Formats: sequence, structure tokens, C-alpha cells
Amino acid sequence: MSELEAMAATDGETPVGPAALRLENVVRTYDEAAGKLEILKGTNLTIWPGEIVALVAPSGTGKSTLLHLAGLLERPDAGEVYIGGVAAGGLSDDARTRMRRVDIGFVYQFHHLLPEFTALENVMMPQLIRGLDKATAAVRAEQLLAYMRMKERASHRPSELSGGEQQRVAIARAVANVPRLLLADEPTGNLDPKTSHYVFEALRGLVRASGLAALVATHNMELAGRMDRRITLQDGQVVEM
Ligand code: ADP
Ligand code: MG
Repeated sequence: MSELEAMAATDGETPVGPAALRLENVVRTYDEAAGKLEILKGTNLTIWPGEIVALVAPSGTGKSTLLHLAGLLERPDAGEVYIGGVAAGGLSDDARTRMRRVDIGFVYQFHHLLPEFTALENVMMPQLIRGLDKATAAVRAEQLLAYMRMKERASHRPSELSGGEQQRVAIARAVANVPRLLLADEPTGNLDPKTSHYVFEALRGLVRASGLAALVATHNMELAGRMDRRITLQDGQVVEM
């Protein structure tokens, strides 16, 4: 077992615990001049630890909205979001922020790495914000970058990295605090097919090794085909494909 797997805090038993993510009758509407825009109409979704789920749906159907709700960046108009079995709706903003930092990792289409910091420092950052000491954060960041085959590039700044390398650093950063749930919004949307394939394989390897759950919005059917499950949005509902 690798150190990474050891850090995933499993004891070798099949985990019998709460879902990593559960949406229960989630409603999300936007008020537009032309009237109410109903994006999610009371939808349900459960993702278990260890699962990688593809969210495949046309632009404008609500993929990002669903990810923002799951990531506690927005609140639903009705319904409940559970992270690791804990209902987020009743929590204070502070408690939600803590949950977002500790339990959830995000990867976006554009990497959002801090330009003035190295790859290593970017992966250390969420750990330092969480309160870990520098030495511990550096060790973990090195391990994650090595896992993403980015060890040799650890001292480079984002501008000195290719798009695929930047996304691999962004993925390492997203899992730096060992979240329960990784949310990725078209993480390979800016990359060519070959690089997409490589970056996704690295992401999948990391999810498999650490036992976290991942929800990945993508337009790439080849990637979707390599995930455990595929869901789409139809008429404001999450539907299995
Ligand atoms: P996707 O990620 O699938 O492309 P989004 O979740 O970004 O879709 O958006 C779904 C729909 O909701 C779109 O029609 C979009 O214009 C609308 N929308 C998203 N965010 C807002 C907002 N903050 N205010 C109003 N409308 C929004
Ligand atoms: Mg989107």
C-alpha cells in the first residue's frame, strides 16, 4: 500500500458509511427579467465513496449549477444537500466554509492556480489555510505531485507549465486536504484529446488510490465512458444514462 493510500484513512475494510454526496429534492431557479428560469426541479443524486461519476449534458442545462450546489457555493431554493451524511442546509456560513475546505475539492476548466507561487506551493496552500504546518504540507504536496508525475516540475510556476501540467497541479491541489468529494467542472475542456486522456487517467488513479468520490462534468464521451457511472440532466432532473 502506498503512503497515499494509507493517508486515505481506510482500514482495509469495505467502507460502510454515508454517501459522499446526496442531493435530495433539490430545486434551483434563477430569477430572470423574462421570468423564472427553473434549472433543477426537485432532483436527487447519490454518489458513494470511491465512485467516479460523469455528468454529461449540453451547455446551459445546469451542470455548473449542480456542481456549485454540491460544493456548497450556492444554496438550493428547496431540498437538501448532504456531504458525508451531514445536511448542509442548516449549517452556518462558517460551518459551510469549513466543510467546503475540508470535505470538498474543486477542479475547474481553467486551473485557477496562483501565478506567483510554484506548483508545490499551490498544492501546499489549501493545507496551510486549513492549519497544517509547512513541513507536513510540503511533504504531502510532494507526494501528490509525484503521484501526478509532476515531481520534476514542482518548483515551476504555472506560466512555465503546459495546460495539461497545470491541470495536474490543480487536481493535486484539489485533493490536498483529502476531501470526501472531488467536483470537477469540465476539467479537460481546454486540453487536446491526448492530453485530456492523460490528465483524466491521473485523476482517476488518484481517486482510486484515495477512495474519494468524484463528480466530473464533461463533454468528452470517451472520458465519460471510462467512469463508473454516467448521469445527465433532463428537464431539471438527474437521470442515469
Ligand atoms: P452548464 O454548466 O450546463 O452549461 P449552467 O449551470 O452554467 O449550465 O447554467 C444553467 C442555466 O442557468 C443557463 O441557462 C444559465 O444561463 C443560467 N444561469 C446560471 N447561473 C445563473 C445566474 N447566476 N443567474 C441567472 N441565470 C443563471
Ligand atoms: Mg458549466
